[in-house]
Amino acid sequence: MKIFLEGHWVDKAKKIEVKNPFDDSVIDTVPKADASDVEQALAYAERGAKVMAKLTSYQRWKILRTAADLMAARNEELGQTISKEEGKIIAEGRGEASRAVETMMGSAEEAKRLHGETVPLDADPTGGKKLGFTLRVPCGVVAAIAPFNFPLNLVCHKVGPALAAGNSVIVKPASDTPLSALKLTEILLEAGLPPEGIQCITGSGGEIGDTLVKDRRVRKITFTGSREIGDRICRMAGIKKVTMELGSNSPLIIMPDADLNRVAAAVATTGYGNAGQTCISTQRVLTAKKVYGDFLDALKPKVEALSTGNQLDEKSKVGPMVKESEAVRVEDWIEEAVAAGARLAAGGGRRGAIYMPAVVADVTPDMRISRDELFGPAVAVTPFENIEEAIALANDSIYGLAAGIFTENVEWAMKFAREAEAGNLHVNWGPQWRVDLMPYGGLKDSGFGKEGPRYAVEEMTELKMVVFHLNS
Ligand code: NAP
Repeated sequence: MKIFLEGHWVDKAKKIEVKNPFDDSVIDTVPKADASDVEQALAYAERGAKVMAKLTSYQRWKILRTAADLMAARNEELGQTISKEEGKIIAEGRGEASRAVETMMGSAEEAKRLHGETVPLDADPTGGKKLGFTLRVPCGVVAAIAPFNFPLNLVCHKVGPALAAGNSVIVKPASDTPLSALKLTEILLEAGLPPEGIQCITGSGGEIGDTLVKDRRVRKITFTGSREIGDRICRMAGIKKVTMELGSNSPLIIMPDADLNRVAAAVATTGYGNAGQTCISTQRVLTAKKVYGDFLDALKPKVEALSTGNQLDEKSKVGPMVKESEAVRVEDWIEEAVAAGARLAAGGGRRGAIYMPAVVADVTPDMRISRDELFGPAVAVTPFENIEEAIALANDSIYGLAAGIFTENVEWAMKFAREAEAGNLHVNWGPQWRVDLMPYGGLKDSGFGKEGPRYAVEEMTELKMVVFHLNS
């Protein structure tokens, strides 16, 4: 595919190969943009912001609504593209494509809901004869930098609200998975988006990222990706609005009164989806000592039933990781934990880019598999004595994106909701659950700012305060 730059589909001599991680075959190539392309994109986007700001709410709604319909019509093709470039099983690829439609529909609706409010200035002793109201205006140019693991829906979570709010947007998808974002760009243009409204450039983030995020013409950066890159972007960005959706090592607490069959089903679903490459994947399973052995017994057959293979084979339950080097990393971390005293209670082992779903028991909090973001198809199980210790262990992390608890006890559930340090909390399910309309984002080093169209449009706009100084 080509990149969409300055209103045209553009090719370049230097290319990035997009590979299917299952067999390493080349699916397509995309141009490798450089810093001069970014400069061009920035100048065009600045002009684009003026074009976009002139569109009415109705026009923005219509474009996004039409795009959602076009996406729904191309659901199978988009699902296949996602699965091929990212490695997730085809059912998950189709599921992501369907969710992306909802994200775009939600964004379309928000285009009609953006408004300011009157402010009762006369409630202040000095505010008589004043009339005040707010105006919500677009930021201008939005830079949207996306990760590999949800190459369509997470791009929609940025592009949808940015356009709904009347901005122009420069999209920089992950180099491993650029095709879905380029297809989304095609669809938006077909839906009637002025070409000035979007540019989609592919290229190494390490090479072009600084040029994009440092530039003063960018008024808003929306980034989803790793903590390390997020930290770098924050330091480079200077004075501009920034949203950071970063990683996690999400905990799930299993209290002694939990229904263990339900828990095991939830862990098998929320720990291994997309081969564990979900930012809110269940990673640290903190289990009450009283039910520790029974829980492992209930989980083992469920994880062993997760058949691995070609992601496009309808029978596969877990596909390859995004690339073999990632599967090698997961293998290393698990071997390191086992060498330090942990125990492989189920699964494990690697075949190319596929890591076999694993349960690692007797994990201590100092092990890398517990402390850092694993981002692979394995869970780390650690025992605890009581709710206080469970919450302390859950919070013993630099991250705070999502957390879960299984219990029938309302007091424990509420204590968890109040004290667990995470942006999304689940009672009687694992941390990996999301619908696209909800406010979504982390605490601590998992980032700041919220996604979900209703919340993201606020992040993509500025609030102006207008005061009329009247005589009567
Ligand atoms: P990543 O390595 O941080 O890359 C994310 C994006 O940043 C890619 O487009 C990458 O481009 C780009 N990039 C790299 N260096 C850059 C720089 N110096 N300046 C600007 N951009 C740069 O993350 P990933 O491996 O794709 O994704 C996995 C991570 O994302 C995990 O940590 C996961 O938890 C997190 N995540 C968080 C959420 C959330 O909502 N909180 C959702 C999904 C994923 P290249 O691909 O060209 O390097």
